[in-house]
Amino acid sequence: MSFLYKADPVRGARWAERFAEQAPDIDFRIWPDIGDASRVEYLATWVPPQDMARQFPNLKAVFSTGAGVDQIDFSQVPAHVPIVRMLEPAIADHMVEYVVHAVLTVHREFGEYGVDQREGRWQVRPNRLARDIRVGVLGLGQLARAVLSRLRLFDYSCAGWSRSAHHIEGVACFSGEAGLEALLARSDILVCLLPLTPQTRGILGAELLGRLPAGASLVQTGRGAHLDQQALLDLLDTGHLRWAFLDVTEPEPLPPDHPLWRHPRVRITPHIASSTNPDTAVTAVLENLARLRRGERLDGEVDRERGY
Ligand code: NDP
Repeated sequence: MSFLYKADPVRGARWAERFAEQAPDIDFRIWPDIGDASRVEYLATWVPPQDMARQFPNLKAVFSTGAGVDQIDFSQVPAHVPIVRMLEPAIADHMVEYVVHAVLTVHREFGEYGVDQREGRWQVRPNRLARDIRVGVLGLGQLARAVLSRLRLFDYSCAGWSRSAHHIEGVACFSGEAGLEALLARSDILVCLLPLTPQTRGILGAELLGRLPAGASLVQTGRGAHLDQQALLDLLDTGHLRWAFLDVTEPEPLPPDHPLWRHPRVRITPHIASSTNPDTAVTAVLENLARLRRGERLDGEVDRERGY
């Protein structure tokens, strides 16, 4: 039996070390050194190999090396093979850092102070209380919950929106179309932490963003294809939106002459809001392999119908 890793080779070397320490009986291989393809039972991948069902006829599970699975074509994975997204603590910790930084930057007007500094202006802006800043999160999954629980410690007025109804202490929870309307109307800062599915593709368009209160800001940490970039530019230019933090774009990277790069009210980062830590990822994967051996459902197993 072998475990094949096909993603960033530098991180792969760390995975190999952890496997050697914690599961020396597993033949851990890094793409393209696949060995005997018929022995490959587990695949950890970001972009899966072509024709994987034929190439690896004895696959038992496909692990995404990231929290999202939108880069995997489910139809290429045999129906009996579970697709598993990465649930490990470092991903949530890093996402919390990114979103808290963006929310604090908008709230405390650090962007405006940056402009003041460049223009040699000493200007004091009034401080607003965190509890008067309404933060709305699209998604109430593992990352959104981690973000919301930390934002609550700052006393922000927190809300979230999901497909199914949830109850989270101290967070106004909304679901469904009517719930979306209500969430948008009370979001001074909108954070996108949705998975990319046919239902959420293009969701951050002119219509949705236009329903935010005037002067709202966007923190886009979902997937680039959630956002209509031209709609964002238009709403920033009319002043309806104040700031946009874009960690994900479509395509990645944006072309060098794309207007978002140089827009004064846009902050772009190269999809670094969060990343999988090889050490904690291997622990999570090995725990899942143990679950598989016990015949239990895997942590992070994707529901193919829902698409996440
Ligand atoms: P989860 O699967 O734990 O949560 C997804 C949430 O989105 C759930 O609350 C779900 O609702 C909600 N949702 C899904 N579809 C809809 C819909 N059509 N309408 C309303 N709500 C919906 O995901 P994670 O929290 O682990 O990750 C979320 C996303 O964050 C990833 O898919 C990825 O796109 C992005 N990400 C970005 C990273 C970066 O570095 N920028 C890093 C990691 C992830 P319900 O609870 O009802 O099921």
